[in-house]
Amino acid sequence: MRRLLPAVDVALFAPLAEPFTYLWPEGLGRPETGIRVLVPLGATAQRMGVVERVHAVDLENAAGLKPVADRIDALPLLPDGYRRWSARLAAYYLARPGARWETVLAWAGDEGRRRYRLRDGALLRALDPELADLFGTGRRIRTQQRLCARVGGPHPCWRLRRAVEQGAVEEVIDPLPTPPAGEEGRAIRLNQDQERALGRLSGARGAFGCHLLFGCTGSGKTEVYLRAAEQVIADGGQVLVLVPEIGLTPMWMARVAHRLGRVGLWHSALDPRARHAVRMRLGRLDAVVGTRSALFLPLPRLGLIVVDEEHDASFKQQEGVPFSARDMAVLLAQELGIPVVLGSATPSVESWWQAERGRYRLLELPRRVGGGGGVATEVVDMRGSGSLLSDALKQALEETRRSGGQSLLYLNRRGYAPALHCTACGGQPECRHCSARLTLHRRRALLCCHLCGWQRGVPDRCEACGEQALVPLGAGTERIVELLAEALPELRVARLDRDAAASMEQRISLLDRFAGGEIDCLIGTQMVVKGHHFPRVTLVGVVQADLGLNLPDVRAAERWWQQLTQVIGRAGRGDRPGRTLLQSYQPDHPWLQRLGEEQARAILRQELANRRAFGAPPFSRWVRLVYSAVREGRALEAARNARDALEGRLPGVRLAGPVPCVLERINRRYRFELLLRDASRRVLPWALAPLLQRLGRLPSGVRCKVDVDPLEMM
Ligand code: ADP
Ligand code: ZN
Repeated sequence: MRRLLPAVDVALFAPLAEPFTYLWPEGLGRPETGIRVLVPLGATAQRMGVVERVHAVDLENAAGLKPVADRIDALPLLPDGYRRWSARLAAYYLARPGARWETVLAWAGDEGRRRYRLRDGALLRALDPELADLFGTGRRIRTQQRLCARVGGPHPCWRLRRAVEQGAVEEVIDPLPTPPAGEEGRAIRLNQDQERALGRLSGARGAFGCHLLFGCTGSGKTEVYLRAAEQVIADGGQVLVLVPEIGLTPMWMARVAHRLGRVGLWHSALDPRARHAVRMRLGRLDAVVGTRSALFLPLPRLGLIVVDEEHDASFKQQEGVPFSARDMAVLLAQELGIPVVLGSATPSVESWWQAERGRYRLLELPRRVGGGGGVATEVVDMRGSGSLLSDALKQALEETRRSGGQSLLYLNRRGYAPALHCTACGGQPECRHCSARLTLHRRRALLCCHLCGWQRGVPDRCEACGEQALVPLGAGTERIVELLAEALPELRVARLDRDAAASMEQRISLLDRFAGGEIDCLIGTQMVVKGHHFPRVTLVGVVQADLGLNLPDVRAAERWWQQLTQVIGRAGRGDRPGRTLLQSYQPDHPWLQRLGEEQARAILRQELANRRAFGAPPFSRWVRLVYSAVREGRALEAARNARDALEGRLPGVRLAGPVPCVLERINRRYRFELLLRDASRRVLPWALAPLLQRLGRLPSGVRCKVDVDPLEMM
């Protein structure tokens, strides 16, 4: 008679193409898809993986199979909607099974840190005497890691889980942090535009729909999100708010926590216990505010997703599975049949196009609430000036200080100077591991590579020609602070960037000091720009307004416009009128002249026309393959092999490359790229997976990054 043994296919959290089959041993309960297990790999190692399929094997075929070592989850982690969505996500971004689950289930990690305490000693003794011995009689808290390491028999995790399920042991979960007191107590009456937008959102509840909320900074978008969220929560639903950056979460928590009830905060820098406190409460929360990883938290009653600052490139993950949290939020909403709102003052060209062709619904807030003071923008011609700070800017800073206002200076470049330059031979110290110049950090007396982090001391003479002729070239935030101290000694200046304020606490405290008026002028990188609301800021200066405009990237102009518009939007948010000064070496650039928010439509339309003319996204779908290896020849050869395998097999897709990437070498690895362009948008990326699979494994030492809808073209 045929004898069948229960078996499971497990996708390991490892870079493997296929799931492996394991036997399902007795004593682990009923096998289920979607639970995590520990399985043996090789002679001694154990790996975590996810059960993808439950089946049975013939006794004869079972000979080479090993049994699952332990079961981690009692129940599948993802409800059906999330599971279907994550499968679509994985297919779209060509994620292998292990990488898929590593990304999708990252929120559930930290298993070893879970903490337990004895609840019912007698019950535990009857259930599992060995565990009972470990717990003793006290109520001491023990971590899963230690408990599992000490359990002698098989399946330690599963035994612990069972003890919890039976009520013999309880898991210790921290309370959610008490939200900061409400920032805005006063009841706000929505203006007409807001009413109309909210009305459209209310009418769209309970069904999929993507809404693009387009409103200038300070037009009251947040208030619209909040009202829509309140309605969903009042109906028993949950709301997910995605923000592009960790730095924006405290502000959001301050604004929403007291309005939305039980709110969980989620981002990658959260400590493990705070994370755990959130993930154990997913069913009981009213809302989650977080960065892109929050998208994966399976909220059982999710009724609305908000993506704030939807244009922000931080929504695209660069490591692991390079997915766009914005686009995947839309896909999730579709899978769950709920509305999603994308909000921005400077929508991405992609989203704008979707609105133009009727896929997304456009909701507009064309005016600032309360009017604000308005902003006057001036372009300062820097050609031939030879200095980094113009007299006009210095004067404006001084006037602002005297009149009791505050100023923001924007320069998206850390450090003292982006290069050291030898005036004798023209040489510039480069990173040993990257094709990049080293940035001078004068305070720390270091040259640093901003690509790989490599550092070295500052040489006192040029290493190419031996002359003592090295001078800093160009400026970073550190240098501007120095220049300001010389030129305007009375101005109280502080710097806000990753060097000056590495931790969240430092950032918050600096921003608090600025808000409290202890600082006259804050100079910084993107960190000073995103989302902050400082009513006393009347002057915004952009030190180098052309920076980023001329990068070799289709999105360079778009991104530059978005950043500058955000910067300018920081001025004149209070009652007093704002003023912006843009220092530029291309003062005649047409976009510089029309940066005001009223011009957003015109710029978007023009950019769409450009993209259409060049067949660039969104009028085609791009996939970028970057092959890299320490040995240059290997990377190139792998890229060539890929080209040969793909050539002619993707109908309608144009294939370019391999060519060296703009950044030819990063972190010791040489990089070559292939660019696939699909004007039909129907073939890619789906047709690519089987072709790449047929290519087989990459030669050792070679890596390939498959980037669907790439935002980084460097
Ligand atoms: P956005 O998100 O578009 O930048 P916010 O929602 O942050 O704009 O609104 C800017 C400021 O205006 C906030 O302080 C907010 O409380 C306030 N505000 C929003 N809507 C109204 C309204 N209808 N009446 C008065 N103040 C409002
Ligand atoms: Zn480097």
